[in-house]
Amino acid sequence: MKEKNTSYHYPKHPEEIKFPIYPGQLSGISRLHAAKSLFTATKSRLAEKLEKRYEKGVVLTSSGSAALVLALTYSGAGPGKEVILSSFNCPNVIDAVLQCGATPVFAQLEFDLSLSVSDARKKATRHTCAIILTHVYGRSENPEIIDWARANGIYIIDDAAQAMFTKQAGVYAGGLGDFGILSFGPSKPLASIGGGALIATKDFLCQQDRLPMEQRRQVIADYKHYMKNQRMQALMKRKHPQPILYVMKKTGLVPSMKVSKLEVLPQSPSVVSVLRMHPSREAIIEYQMSKIDQLIKASAKNIETARERFEQEETTYGVQMIQPKEGECLNYLTIVFPQEEERYACSVYLAEKGIQTCWNYLPLDLIPIYQTYATQADENPLWKRVLSLPFKPPLTEEQTRQIAETVLKYAEHQNKN
Ligand SMILES: *Cc1c(COP(=O)(O)O)cnc(C)c1O
Repeated sequence: MKEKNTSYHYPKHPEEIKFPIYPGQLSGISRLHAAKSLFTATKSRLAEKLEKRYEKGVVLTSSGSAALVLALTYSGAGPGKEVILSSFNCPNVIDAVLQCGATPVFAQLEFDLSLSVSDARKKATRHTCAIILTHVYGRSENPEIIDWARANGIYIIDDAAQAMFTKQAGVYAGGLGDFGILSFGPSKPLASIGGGALIATKDFLCQQDRLPMEQRRQVIADYKHYMKNQRMQALMKRKHPQPILYVMKKTGLVPSMKVSKLEVLPQSPSVVSVLRMHPSREAIIEYQMSKIDQLIKASAKNIETARERFEQEETTYGVQMIQPKEGECLNYLTIVFPQEEERYACSVYLAEKGIQTCWNYLPLDLIPIYQTYATQADENPLWKRVLSLPFKPPLTEEQTRQIAETVLKYAEHQNKN
C-alpha cells in the first residue's frame, strides 16, 4: 500500500480556504422567511409541487437516507435478499441497504459513470430484489437497465440525491424507476438543511401507512447547524485568515481541513430514523425551490466556462473535465488526471492557492466496515484520478475561470518537470 498521505488524504495543509467546495447555495434562503417557517409553519405545498414535477406521488421524509430505506423496504429488501449498487458511492446508500438487513452487491460503473448494465446483469441472482441507480456527480443512467430489471422482477430505485435537476428523455432523475429518491442535504443540488423525498405511484403510496413525524426541534437544530457552517465559510473566504478563525479552530468550533478521509472513515454503518418531514422543513425547502432556477443557471454557466478552458488544453496536458451531456445538471465539477499521483499533487497545489477540492469517493469496498462485500474484480478505474473543484454560486464565472487556470498552471509545471 502506498503511503497513507498520498493515497487518500485531502491536501495536508491547505493554508487558507477561500473557495469551499460547497458554498452558500442557501443564498436561496431568506433568514426572515426561515425564522418564520421554523416557528409557525403548519403546512406547505412542497409535496404537491414535486408531485406535479414527477407526475407521481411523493412522500416527504426527514432525510434522503430515510426515503431510501423506505424504497428498499417497499422493494422487499430484508434478510436473505440482495441489492445491487455501485461501490463508487456515498456511504449513506450502502448503510440504507444494511439497515434493511439485505446484502449489498457491488456492480461496476461504465467510464461515463452510469451503472454497467452488463455487470449488473452478471451480479443479479434469484435473491436480487432491487438495483439502486445513483447518477454519480449528476450524470444520467443507462435506461436499458430499467427495462431489463422490469422484465426480471427486480425493482429499480432511482436515487437522484445528486441529480435532482438532471433530465433524461424528458423526465427528471428520480422519476425513472419504480421508486425515486431526493435529498435536500447541504451538499446536494438543492442545498438545504437536510430532508428527503420518496417518489412512487400515487396508488402505491396511498396503500402505505402514514409515517410518524419528526420533531420541530430537529429541524431547528439542523437549521442552526447549517447557519453555523455558512458563517464559517464566510470567514474562510476572506483574503487574510481571521484571528477569530484561529481561536474557533482551537476550541473545535471549526472542523479542521487537515482531517483526512482515512481519519473520518465511518466506524459503523449509520442507522437513520424513518420519519415524515416536519412542515417547518417543508416550508424552508419550498421557498428555496422557488428561487433555485437562478442558481442552477449560474452553476451551468460556470460549468460552461470551465468546459471551454479545459477543452482548449486537453490535448496539451491530458487533463479531462467530466462534461455534462444533454440534460445533465452536474453537482460537481470534476476533472480526470492521466496519472494517479497527480490528483494529490494538484489538490495540494490548489490548496496553497486557497482552493479547496474534494475527492469523491473512496470506493465503499475499500472502507474496512464494508470490505466483506468486496469482490476482487471490483476495481473502479477512475477513482484515483478524479478531483472535484468548486464551481457553484456565489462563485462567479471569472472565479471559475481562475480556478481552471490554476489547474492548468499546475499541469504546465508538471509537464516542464
Ligand atoms: C447524500 C446521498 C443520500 C442520502 O441523503 P441524505 O439526505 O443525506 O440522507 C442518498 N443517496 C445518494 C446518492 C447521496 O449522495
